[in-house]
Amino acid sequence: SPRMAAINAAINYKPAGPPLNFAETPTQDLFCANVFSKAEMKKRLPKPIFKGLIQTIEAGEKLDPNVADVVASAMKDWAIEKGATHYSHVFYPLTGGTAEKHDSFMAPAGDGTALTEFGGKELIQGEPDGSSFPTGGIRLTHEARGYTIWDVTSAAYILENPNGTTLCIPTAFVSWTGEALDKKTPVLRSMQALNQQAQRITKLFGYDEDAFIASTAGPEQEYFLIDRNFFFARPDLLNAGRTLFGAAPPKGQEFDDHYFGAIPERVLACMLEVERELIKLGVPIKTRHNEVAPGQYEIAPIFETANIATDHQQLCMLMLKRVAAKYGMECLTHEKPFAGVNGSGKHVNWSLGSSAHGNLLDPGDTPHDNAKFLVFCAAVLRAVHRHQGLLRAVVASAGNDHRLGANEAPPAIISVFLGDQLTDVFEQIKAGGAKSSRARGTLEVGVDTLPPFPKDAGDRNRTSPFAFTGNRFEFRAVGSNFSIAGPLVAMNTIVAESLDYCATKLEKATGGDSSKLNSAVQELLAEIMGECEPIIFNGNGYSDEWHAEAEKRGLRNLKATPDALEALLEPGVRELFSKYHVLNERELESRYETYVEQYCLTVKVEANLTKKIARTMIFPAAIRYQNELASTCANLKMLGYEFDTDTLDKVTELVKGLQDGTAALAKVTKGGCEDIRGCYEEVLPAMLNVRKYADELEAIVSDDLWPLPTYQEMLFIK
Ligand code: ADP
Ligand code: MG
Repeated sequence: SPRMAAINAAINYKPAGPPLNFAETPTQDLFCANVFSKAEMKKRLPKPIFKGLIQTIEAGEKLDPNVADVVASAMKDWAIEKGATHYSHVFYPLTGGTAEKHDSFMAPAGDGTALTEFGGKELIQGEPDGSSFPTGGIRLTHEARGYTIWDVTSAAYILENPNGTTLCIPTAFVSWTGEALDKKTPVLRSMQALNQQAQRITKLFGYDEDAFIASTAGPEQEYFLIDRNFFFARPDLLNAGRTLFGAAPPKGQEFDDHYFGAIPERVLACMLEVERELIKLGVPIKTRHNEVAPGQYEIAPIFETANIATDHQQLCMLMLKRVAAKYGMECLTHEKPFAGVNGSGKHVNWSLGSSAHGNLLDPGDTPHDNAKFLVFCAAVLRAVHRHQGLLRAVVASAGNDHRLGANEAPPAIISVFLGDQLTDVFEQIKAGGAKSSRARGTLEVGVDTLPPFPKDAGDRNRTSPFAFTGNRFEFRAVGSNFSIAGPLVAMNTIVAESLDYCATKLEKATGGDSSKLNSAVQELLAEIMGECEPIIFNGNGYSDEWHAEAEKRGLRNLKATPDALEALLEPGVRELFSKYHVLNERELESRYETYVEQYCLTVKVEANLTKKIARTMIFPAAIRYQNELASTCANLKMLGYEFDTDTLDKVTELVKGLQDGTAALAKVTKGGCEDIRGCYEEVLPAMLNVRKYADELEAIVSDDLWPLPTYQEMLFIK
């Protein structure tokens, strides 16, 4: 059977090639080897051109079109030296994936010879026929064009393939009307909005003419690796990325023996190559370890500015899948590939800073730094408190619904973990209020030195969706299969709004007189703390008590995607995005529509798979076994023996349940799966009902007849 063949193949895995040799090519020498980096540009570009380009990259200044031709030519030469035959504008559609269309450098000269061609025009703008990407109504398929536009701030790179390499140019994807059709454009816009407002705050603290204040992101990626033979023997994994059937294995993760355990050899070999390939692409990979579930791992880079981190994260997912295949494994990035086993998330560490300030969420050692830190920190609290709904919406998907709130990942309720010490500081500020603070013996910002904050916030709280971790916030509710663009756009924009609020208040209170800043800050912080206290929760987010408590505090609990996505259309969110020019109404609506559609399509595919697997794989196996039992029974009876029909009765009952369940599922999906509530309320439960019978059958039916690789095999054979 295919299952037995898969087990055999998995057991007999042999590495395809020789091991990597790190002594020959040390990792540090490979960093950015395949990137058209600043260093490479400096070598190849005339000085004024290079300078102009750096101004654009670092200070966000407009690109001089004359620069483009020169840069294109140097880029092409570099790429061709590296063996590139094609170039590609890489873009990031709303599906959350990465899209690429390749064009050859070669251009016939007309006389039977050929040249290479790649000018500024080709570098700056492309026009892929991206008409089949979801755009939520911004662009109808029969009208208008979509353009890809060079993102100067994200370096071009070379993607190697055994049979040739391609020059990849990160781009934004917009409609002819200039509306964002992608995930990159809003990231860039939100970074600008954040910079503008953050500058107003730092100005109050005496910094004029500041360097660009950028949001920074360090995404930790969790994933599963399983032998590819199992993957191909499971139509559900192949098509939906998760198992729609599968009884709990006799041994799961209960021993906690996998987390941070020794990494299996084949897995480590694969990781080393993933990391090496990413290092060549300039992705600063730092950390690897086993995760909680058997077969689950994590990879994390050093943080970078939000836009670059986002592009690099996409590369990271791509490379994980690509290299895993080379090692005979499949990398599963679905949020919940296996029921009853921990799912995967992406922890997005977020902060903001600049070359002048360093990290603005670092408490620092001096009172002055403390005050600045407290304003930024309070702004984040206020932002999260006001926009719980939006933060919940940007982590909503059919896949992540299986994980959030399942006692392994944060609940669907958004709250902030501050840690005891910082909570105490804020509470004292709140209690002290502005002027009387000294008299009451509480902290006065900017005058008294705050207790030194430990860099490591001490106790970790894994149950919080949004945690302060010493010098950054960690957004933990993001799904493993997500682009981090959405969560970053939300973070950048809500914090921009909050900083705008703070700056306006402080500017008013000081009226340009910096001696009034301390008391103004004190007053502002006290006010924010009074308003936002309910969002702070340092306890166990998994507990039932928290759900009750959160309700009392008036926090939102948007349990699943159909509710969560609605938040995108609320007036506060519409105003937020249009005010800071991150997404206009149409762009925002298009996102809502696209994500609703994605949800429905996902459920539809899963429902189709459930029916198909139940009918064509599980039902046949079950009746074969039923037949074996029945004929054994008949034969024994003929010979005058007794036969206990318990098992036969059970199998017969379950087969009936499976058939009825499949029929019921077919009925609820008959009209298609177009209505998101219907998908959630009817289709998903009907699928679970089919699964219930199938999983029970798996525990009874003769092992040699069972068609699907089991959880035990997928998770433990490596
Ligand atoms: P843990 O698993 O303990 O949370 P990791 O070391 O796996 O920690 O990941 C922490 C992530 O946070 C890394 O990607 C790190 O670069 C990132 N990080 C650290 N400082 C910042 C910052 N200022 N802004 C954004 N991300 C940061
Ligand atoms: Mg973390």
